[in-house]
Amino acid sequence: MQRIGVFVCHCGSNIAATVDVKKVVEVISQEPGVVHAEDYQYMCSEAGQEKIIQAIREKELTGVVVCSCSPRMHEATFRKAVAKAGLNPYMLEVANIREQCSWIHKDMEEATKKAVILARAAVAKVNLDAPLQEGESRVTKRALVIGGGIAGIQSALDIADAGYEVDIVEKTPSIGGRMSQLDKTFPTLDCSACILTPKMVEANAHEKIHIYTYSEVEKISGFVGDFTVEIRKKARSVDMSKCTGCGVCQEKCPSKKIPSEFNRGLGNRTAIYTPFAQAIPNVPVIDRENCIKFKTGKCGVCSKVCQAGAIDYDQKDEIISEKYGAIVVATGFDTIKLDKYDEYAYSQSKDVITSLELERIMNAAGPTKGHLERLSDGRAPKNMVFIQCVGSRCADTRGKSYCSKICCMYTAKHAMLIRDKYPDVNVTVFYIDVRTPGKNFDEFYRRAVEEYHVNYVKGQVGKVIPQPDGQLLVQGVDLLDNKQILVNADMVVLATAIEPDPSVRKLATMLTASIDNNNFLTEAHPKLRPVESPTAGVFLSGVCQGPKDIPETVAQAGAAAVKAIGLLAKDKLRTNACTAKPDQLLCNGCSTCANVCPYGAISYEEKEVNDHGIREVRRVAAVNSALCQGCGACTVACPSGAMDLQGFSNRQIIAEVDAICR
Ligand code: FAD
Ligand code: SF4
Ligand code: SF4
Repeated sequence: MQRIGVFVCHCGSNIAATVDVKKVVEVISQEPGVVHAEDYQYMCSEAGQEKIIQAIREKELTGVVVCSCSPRMHEATFRKAVAKAGLNPYMLEVANIREQCSWIHKDMEEATKKAVILARAAVAKVNLDAPLQEGESRVTKRALVIGGGIAGIQSALDIADAGYEVDIVEKTPSIGGRMSQLDKTFPTLDCSACILTPKMVEANAHEKIHIYTYSEVEKISGFVGDFTVEIRKKARSVDMSKCTGCGVCQEKCPSKKIPSEFNRGLGNRTAIYTPFAQAIPNVPVIDRENCIKFKTGKCGVCSKVCQAGAIDYDQKDEIISEKYGAIVVATGFDTIKLDKYDEYAYSQSKDVITSLELERIMNAAGPTKGHLERLSDGRAPKNMVFIQCVGSRCADTRGKSYCSKICCMYTAKHAMLIRDKYPDVNVTVFYIDVRTPGKNFDEFYRRAVEEYHVNYVKGQVGKVIPQPDGQLLVQGVDLLDNKQILVNADMVVLATAIEPDPSVRKLATMLTASIDNNNFLTEAHPKLRPVESPTAGVFLSGVCQGPKDIPETVAQAGAAAVKAIGLLAKDKLRTNACTAKPDQLLCNGCSTCANVCPYGAISYEEKEVNDHGIREVRRVAAVNSALCQGCGACTVACPSGAMDLQGFSNRQIIAEVDAICR
């Protein structure tokens, strides 16, 4: 039996307002093994920690329970305090009586009863605790950045400038992300390419950065400091070392009617293509699905015209394997599909477009060379209607519950740019609220209203009805005047919600990183660790974590880089002490545990075991404690109950359950 001390925290009034902490102390003092119990205002404070240290020394405690906030907040603090007093830090348990008790209950008597039960379970667990030792693992001084948008580029540049090697893996043929598709950017209205391309060039030229475009992460194993990643370099069918980027192949390629992804399908590209003029690398790829040579075996024009002899139809996908100490995820976003929003007639009229399509139309290098024109007949519009929050802030399951955050600002940007260049065009914006928190953002929106006379209507649009003459009738409601309104438009622009890149689910599984209900990657703590994933060594950069504009993206990218640099700067890391341990007497070597272990920590060895006096050599499981992350998957999978997790053993869990049900 341990000699246990229990320390009950008031957390100011966070706990004490709902839980009778004195009562918890009184009841828990009676538990078997408890030789000391006290309460204090803030156990995490210097004075609170000193109380724990003193009690360990004076009462010769062998185990400690702190009843306080979640272990995610202060377990490390209390472990350090316990170690300072000479006790093994794993002889401590935290009973969460704040998040799991005082914060979610109102009735003091009931909450106090529950706090006692939680404390009792922790005492039962400490009674079975054994001292554990942390191990050490090395740190590979190289980072992987997944996604080559502005977030990935910025994170890579910051890590590389600190002296570490960085690889960027980008799935499309060029880095640049969505920002490369934008025309001008709020709130300064400077040209997007003018501020993005210098960064792209810098990343490409940086001696510490290696860029894999047209590539995807295929497999991730390992753990913080020592990830092994397999990257699939898709066959470009063009030899990058030979191509001079002259572009002759694209001019001559006869397969010309393929919708350009970069122009959101508004313009065409050839089967051999670079997505945009400033693409990095400036080396085309052959889209094999649309290439005549790959489809029919005929053609081969690009190979004939390429002076550099760079075309390689036989090129194969290549899998490369690389080790990394840290991974930054920067996979960004896409706009939602509009098939559930047919009331806006997107599928019925070419003149109903999305805001991203408008960016391409407004861009001098876009499908209309920067001329604002109707896609149906090429005429200049006279009346334009913008509809905000299409698919954002939805109360129903049709769209996204969240605010996409950027649409109010980019709609004001679009409205202003149009009124500036085409003063005769009337612009009406339907909005629910205008949300403009950000430096100079509200001033920007007010300029749209006051200086550019954009007609803002507070209200939603019920329907856009295409008319026989090609016009669009917009049926909406003006909430301020409390009336239905009809607006005639030649073009309607939808500010569509954004959502995480669809690849993120698969990636999250590979990274064992968590995602929220909307598929955005979850941060380790929303306030205190906003750029770290709960998976150690994985950091979050840009819109993959939640909607953001460019300044916020760049700020977060820098923060993620700093966290990665902090990790790469270390030579060794302390490894988790709560690792799996097989009972080799019970193990029958069935391989179930190795099959479920996501970290490849389990192998098998031939070992002589003494089974009730019978000595025999058996194939038994062995855990590499440097690789084991203590996830517990093997312990639940083992059909023989042979695998146990140190610090969370089956006996301990059952003892906790017994203590709760008592
Ligand atoms: P992205 O730009 O989406 O980049 C992510 C990159 O990761 C992409 O290159 C993608 O191909 C790649 N990727 C995705 N998944 C994988 C994978 N599994 N493996 C490898 N690579 C992958 N912001 C402003 O501040 N000002 C503006 O004026 C402005 N206007 C906008 C207008 C519109 C219509 C829209 C939609 C957005 C606008 N924004 C604006 C927001 C801006 O586009 C974003 O803040 C910015 O692009 C976010 O950068 P990112 O790198 O996080 O994501
Ligand atoms: Fe590269 Fe050859 Fe095409 Fe020129 S013609 S861009 S060298 S592949
Ligand atoms: Fe042994 Fe259990 Fe692993 Fe099977 S699952 S090999 S029994 S430890």
